[in-house]
Amino acid sequence: MPEHDEEPAHDGGWSRQGRPTRDVGYEPSLAYARERDRHDPLRQFRRRFTLPRGRIYMDGNSLGAPPHEAVREVHRALRDWQRLGIDGWMSAAEPWFGWAEQIGRRQAPLAGAEPDEVVVTGGTTINLHQLVATFYRPRAGRTKILTDALNFPSDRYALEAQIALRGLDPREHLIAVASEDGHTIAEAALERAMTADVALVVLPSVLYRSGQLLDMQRLTRTAHERGIEIGFDLSHSAGCVPHALHAWDVDFAFWCNYKYLNAGPGSLASLFVHRRHFGRRPALAGWWGSDKARQFDMASEFTPAAGAGAWQIGTPGILSLAAASGALDVTLDAGIERIRNRSLALTSYLMFLTDRQLTPYEFQVATPREPERRGGHVALTHPAAVQICKALKARGVVPDFRPPNVIRLAPVALYTTWEEIWRSVRHLRQIVASGEHRQLDATPQVVA
Ligand SMILES: *Cc1c(COP(=O)(O)O)cnc(C)c1O
Repeated sequence: MPEHDEEPAHDGGWSRQGRPTRDVGYEPSLAYARERDRHDPLRQFRRRFTLPRGRIYMDGNSLGAPPHEAVREVHRALRDWQRLGIDGWMSAAEPWFGWAEQIGRRQAPLAGAEPDEVVVTGGTTINLHQLVATFYRPRAGRTKILTDALNFPSDRYALEAQIALRGLDPREHLIAVASEDGHTIAEAALERAMTADVALVVLPSVLYRSGQLLDMQRLTRTAHERGIEIGFDLSHSAGCVPHALHAWDVDFAFWCNYKYLNAGPGSLASLFVHRRHFGRRPALAGWWGSDKARQFDMASEFTPAAGAGAWQIGTPGILSLAAASGALDVTLDAGIERIRNRSLALTSYLMFLTDRQLTPYEFQVATPREPERRGGHVALTHPAAVQICKALKARGVVPDFRPPNVIRLAPVALYTTWEEIWRSVRHLRQIVASGEHRQLDATPQVVA
């Protein structure tokens, strides 16, 4: 990509570390939004995506938009299958055997991991099961798993199931730290709950509803000081926020690739295991976790791979790997630091417009304002959020709704424009000012 013209004047006012460097000086006019688009250092990336025609796509934190490269790679994998059949495993342009590890190596910098600490495999919830099954070792006096009360439901179901599998009662052994304000969780409250009876901590990097970004480094340090292992679900930060999992000494992590990493609906997920734990026995063993040189010996004894690949279970979906590989090229070309800078600038602009145009109409921002405390989306609350979301969709803006009253808007660094943010906020204001949402049904859609 030729697009490497750093333009500090258009970084939204944040330094590369994501801290405010000066007054941002946004302006509320459409002309200003267009001017920002004209000079945006990442403006070339939008062309690498197919976006719904005539609509404003603000839901990339639920399902990222399709990059052309992802589609192209899937077509190539299909042709390889037609051309090569079984030989695709060894002879495809990207041999399918070992591709999951290869994409993991390329994805590792996004996690701040060493190349063999990441592999693309399974699903988000499946990887959570695999890693918690491996890392949760209840023992005398240390039997509990600590999480937060706002965690994604699937994560919570899986944690409860893992506790129940050990013959323990989840009501007693899962500690869910409460939120004071219903939107955020204080790191200090999580630390207070890291008591001597806790065996394992599992937390999201970014809370899926409010968009709060937790201080993973601090939480990891405290957990380790207290003899507790800790893992993170990076579903809402992977591809959007830089991480330093290896340096922070995080024990394990897992994430979804279909959100900010644009690998397609239901794509394979990823997992990270810190190399300190290499050699630990994967709890849910399967042949795909074998040492690659031994896998086809078909031995009755399992020889796990040396790296994170050992935590794979079965054959990966090659079409999904193809999409993940193509999509990853786009993210890597842009660079995670530039993505983070632009994402912070866009979310901060969205909050600026919200403050000016929407707060008189009962909207509130539930996302923390500090750049180091938020991920890639902005959560607005409104008592009529369900109807407002439907009215927005009818006007061609795609948001998402999270019960009971949250509208999430994700301006995605790789493809959302300043003008689209401006237009989304104007639509919101026109909806509430005219009351057009009041005619709409207040029952949420099944997938919203
Ligand atoms: C998106 C997301 C998931 C999705 O789980 P799947 O197994 O991919 O369905 C899980 N946890 C969190 C925190 C998420 O944001």
